[in-house]
Amino acid sequence: MPVPAEILWHPHTNMASFVPEDNPVCCRAQGTYIWDEQGRQYFDGTSALWFANIGHGNESVARAMYEQACRLETFHTFVGNSHRPVLDLMERLYRLAPLDDPRIILGSGGSDAADIALKLARRYWQVLGKPKKQYVLAREHAYHGLHAFGTSVVGDDDLRKGYGSLVPYVCRISDDNLQEVRETIEDLGAESIAAIIAEPIIGAGGMIPASAGYLAGLRALADEFDILLIFDEVVSGFGRTGEWFASELYGVTPDMTMFAKGVTSGYAPLGGVFVAARVWEPFYDSANPQAPAYWHGLTYSGHAVSCAAAMANLEFIEDNHLLGHVRELSQFVDAELHRVFERNEYVADVRSKGLLGGVELHSSVSAGSVVAVLRDEFGQLVRPCNQTVTISPPFISTIEELRSLIADIAEAVDLVA
Ligand code: PLP
Repeated sequence: MPVPAEILWHPHTNMASFVPEDNPVCCRAQGTYIWDEQGRQYFDGTSALWFANIGHGNESVARAMYEQACRLETFHTFVGNSHRPVLDLMERLYRLAPLDDPRIILGSGGSDAADIALKLARRYWQVLGKPKKQYVLAREHAYHGLHAFGTSVVGDDDLRKGYGSLVPYVCRISDDNLQEVRETIEDLGAESIAAIIAEPIIGAGGMIPASAGYLAGLRALADEFDILLIFDEVVSGFGRTGEWFASELYGVTPDMTMFAKGVTSGYAPLGGVFVAARVWEPFYDSANPQAPAYWHGLTYSGHAVSCAAAMANLEFIEDNHLLGHVRELSQFVDAELHRVFERNEYVADVRSKGLLGGVELHSSVSAGSVVAVLRDEFGQLVRPCNQTVTISPPFISTIEELRSLIADIAEAVDLVA
């Protein structure tokens, strides 16, 4: 029997209408460019899926991973076990952390980080003798990965429906209206709420930066009602906004920060959660013989090759002063997106923060079609998030590359309209 072309059951893909020939097969990448098996070249305007921050084919990261795999591919970190790369990475992350004196729990990616943070929020309140505090409040357009907890809090109905009952005690809050958030808290009762979870800049939900004051407002409500505040920085973390974390840009400190993608720039799977003292203290209390363990862990929590990749990636960002470059690129992208699209009749909104940009189109022009034209006619990879054409280029991009990316998006909108 011939082997079918579509054995790989692609994520987020309707396999009933999937045509393998319509989709490029990537075979090579270098810097900001990717090549497919047909020899076509594409500019990676999305850093793949928001992760290739330092670009592709970085030799120092590849070498660090190879050397680590030869020395010790990995060992596990359960029940107190350890290895040098994970300890070295902890030191480095401690210095970069967006909150003071954190403890850090590791997993394999962003969905793991959601499970780690949300389970820990509930566990924390149980340990403090408040087991009723179980509700998680998540924003309307939230995306926190798609493990069971992430699926329960995701904003997009299509991603949640069809599974029967998911994790209970989840409630949606407004993306931008603090008064509505307050009313939700008062309706549910603070004594039943464990945490608020929020991306400082909503990514998959449509590239929506929090407005000035919203995150600070969430912090104030969390403090007033004794609720934990969790920021999901899986996309915005590790330099994407020109600061190590977007929470620093907004000047707001959460109780936990989730990270993934950019920690290794995608060279190996890794994610985790920075946990603030308030949350970790009851679990680390040596004076308390009843201090509980947090019984959560994954075989590959702190995989040594991933840790080596993260160390080399973070070193590369620091050594090449990429945060400063991201700030420069971000200013250009913000100004250029507004200059090119603000008066475009097909454009409903233009948004950008750091090196994350979005052009929201009116419903008459399909963002999906614009993205397909950009890939096939212009060799530009961008991503549709609902009706928003989103860009999130690598930190090593040049102004010229971004100027032509934005110009090509404008042309593609005209072609599709
Ligand atoms: N959180 C956010 C904000 C994300 O954008 C994503 C993935 O895109 C995730 C969590 C899930 O990460 P992963 O796909 O690594 O599980």
